[in-house]
Amino acid sequence: MGNTLFNHKPHAKRRLNILPDNPEDEDPTKAVGLGRFPSWLHRKLPRGKNLSKTHEILSTHRLPTVCEEAKCPNLLECYSKKTATFLALGSSCTRACGFCEINFSKFPPPPQNNEPSRLATSVRELDLKHVVITMVARDDLEDGGAFHIKTIIEEVRRQNEGVTIEVLSSDFSGNKKAVETLIEASPEIFNHNIETVRSLTPRVRHKATYDRTLSVLTQVASSKRDILVKSGLMVGLGESDAEIKQTMQDLAQVPCNIITLGQYLQPGPHKLRVKRFVSPKEFENYATFGRSLGIKEVYAGPFVRSSYNAKELFEKMAFK
Ligand code: SF4
Repeated sequence: MGNTLFNHKPHAKRRLNILPDNPEDEDPTKAVGLGRFPSWLHRKLPRGKNLSKTHEILSTHRLPTVCEEAKCPNLLECYSKKTATFLALGSSCTRACGFCEINFSKFPPPPQNNEPSRLATSVRELDLKHVVITMVARDDLEDGGAFHIKTIIEEVRRQNEGVTIEVLSSDFSGNKKAVETLIEASPEIFNHNIETVRSLTPRVRHKATYDRTLSVLTQVASSKRDILVKSGLMVGLGESDAEIKQTMQDLAQVPCNIITLGQYLQPGPHKLRVKRFVSPKEFENYATFGRSLGIKEVYAGPFVRSSYNAKELFEKMAFK
């Protein structure tokens, strides 16, 4: 993936949906697609040497991050805080979801044997205390890459004493044995996103189903291990208020301990368009609703993503 992000800043700014700090209120019902954002989606660009340091460490170890591959709008903020979400098993995914900008390939290269040690070393160099590891969906591999992820978790622990681990997993096409492999690795948090409401799932996600996601989460919740169950969804894709609440209810039934809710932003011209911008006040209301269902932590806001401020969220859970 090279250094494109930092060598072409004007592009990067547009690509990452980061607009100048020039707020102008707009009618959220009219603002759709790239380029026209309401005031709450404008923010200052972070500065500091950590930004390039983070990028340098990741580049040296040739480690893709979902932050870059999926064009996350929080990239500059997170990198400047010396945090990132590792994208394991390569940077090409065997699925082509309507919301996701990660490259599609039916037959990506095989997993790299030295990825666990490269990743663990960069965790040490970044001095991460809480690590989020996500993965591309590898439908071409018999176990979906579960054993490889388990090996990464073990190596990260081996090289980084006391580190806590959050895995943001695929659904392994419903392969329960593969999910069990990850459970055996005992991450502190098992995260698997439901992404959207039931009615929009076939359009938003590729191959993944709403019920299969609930089943993966339920398998983890029933494992009797000390693992927190986390899931998240994007809003603004055309779902109704009632559907968002129903999804939260379904996640509460699992039960999920943590839910994240964030604004969907179109990452590229060929991806699904934004149907609605949800205001900060509405996000607050969703968070209140989620907590009323008994979900311990509901992190909701325009820029919330499943790994946004993951360490702080995990620390908060320790006191609940
Ligand atoms: S929110 Fe997550 S994916 Fe986005 S930049 Fe931060 S760590 Fe990366």
